[in-house]
Amino acid sequence: MAVRHRRDFLKATAAAMIAAPALWRRDARAARGRVVVIGGGAGGAAAARLLAAAGQGLEVTLVEPKSRYVTCFFSNLFIGGLRSLDSLTHGYETLTGRYGINHMRQVALAIDPAQRAVRLAGGEVLPWDRLIVAPGIDFQWDAIEGYGPDAARTMPHAWQAGEQTMLLRRQLEAMADGGTVLIAPPDMPYRCPTAPYERASLIAHYLKAAKPRSKILVLDAKNDFPLQDLFEEAWVRFYPGMIEVLPADFAGGVRAVDPAAMTVMAEGETFRVAVANVIPPQTAGRIAIQSGLADRRGWCPVDPVTFESTQQPGIHVIGDAALASPMPKAAYAAQKQAEICAAAILESLAGETAGAPVLGGACWSHVAPDHAVQERASFAVVDGALQRIELEISPTGESDSSRAASAAAGDAWYAGITAEIFG
Ligand SMILES: Cc1cc2nc3c(=O)[nH]c(=O)nc-3n(C[C@H](O)[C@H](O)[C@H](O)COP(=O)(O)OP(=O)(O)OC[C@H]3O[C@@H](n4cnc5c(N)ncnc54)[C@H](O)[C@@H]3O)c2cc1C
Repeated sequence: MAVRHRRDFLKATAAAMIAAPALWRRDARAARGRVVVIGGGAGGAAAARLLAAAGQGLEVTLVEPKSRYVTCFFSNLFIGGLRSLDSLTHGYETLTGRYGINHMRQVALAIDPAQRAVRLAGGEVLPWDRLIVAPGIDFQWDAIEGYGPDAARTMPHAWQAGEQTMLLRRQLEAMADGGTVLIAPPDMPYRCPTAPYERASLIAHYLKAAKPRSKILVLDAKNDFPLQDLFEEAWVRFYPGMIEVLPADFAGGVRAVDPAAMTVMAEGETFRVAVANVIPPQTAGRIAIQSGLADRRGWCPVDPVTFESTQQPGIHVIGDAALASPMPKAAYAAQKQAEICAAAILESLAGETAGAPVLGGACWSHVAPDHAVQERASFAVVDGALQRIELEISPTGESDSSRAASAAAGDAWYAGITAEIFG
């Protein structure tokens, strides 16, 4: 795999995108059956909508406790004061009203693969012919001493959007000028690998104007991070002296926290901070683990052609919960996986076989207002495994107009993907 120039990449990706979802090539009307989708986020809601829109003989039920979904994607812009939370909040009215999806506002408690049924917290049992599990992530609460759900109320992770995102923003607004904001990213794999560094950039943007004597300390569990040269270039230019990164070799990442004292312990050092954004290591959402869909690392292995679980036939896993490396755990990846999975389900319910997919997409990281860097990639199944076949990354030293164009493209992507999923 080589890093391509923009023009080569765009040509290849355009072809791949056209070839990508088999959804529209087959006669989806032949598909009959009940599909239950657990999780109404970027992956689950996208899959439910595609299935309901394509197969007239399908009964689609979406199990999601929330009535409104706040996107993690672009939540760093809210934390940095560049977007409202309202603009990141989406309802399910289009899915239910226009597409006839049955939205059960409940938590799925258990999956019975033998009976092909899901039990909900309210006691209802939903039978299915095909099940899609898209619960996103959960946290390894025992990984950092002292950091559990209670500690997260003082030291927010803000890695599931909503309450936690607002808490982090409120803490930034309340802190005194001159304090330290600590961001502690986990080791790979985790949801959206570039997002901790986008967050550092946008918190720096806020502090620079509102509390200019403050500092950001990135206490990393890794020695390097994605797009590092691009982030560091932006930090030198926009936020000189404000952001310090302590890599794993230097401090070993977060070992323990004491929320009462607002201290964070690393190897041989204790930091007293004003705001602590501790992002713990992650696994697939709990329901996937409890249902035997995950491997010992806590993520769900799937057949990359259909996203059907390799552990439990008839059950598909998409989004962050799936083991789909080298695809990142990103909303664009979740949506592409939803397309492939929906197509495979339609084909299988119509008695056909799914073809090998190509999945492409892009991710933008905002480093300052109207200034973003981007990473575009496409993936294909080669010798039975997903492989990255194309990659394009913004170069360092790009002009301001290119960075502004990337920021605008990112905004357009956000508007497009949320409209495609939520209407
Ligand atoms: C700060 C940040 C910035 C990001 N920026 C980007 C970006 O710029 N671009 C990008 O592509 N991605 C980005 N991401 C990643 C993106 O948000 C995730 O990859 C994406 O949301 C994954 O979709 P998902 O459907 O797997 O999970 P989610 O979107 O988390 O949805 C899972 C849903 O399942 C529901 N659920 C869980 N368990 C159950 C259960 N038992 N019963 C019923 N429902 C259940 C939850 O309520 C939730 O609504 C970012 C992430 C973060 C944290």
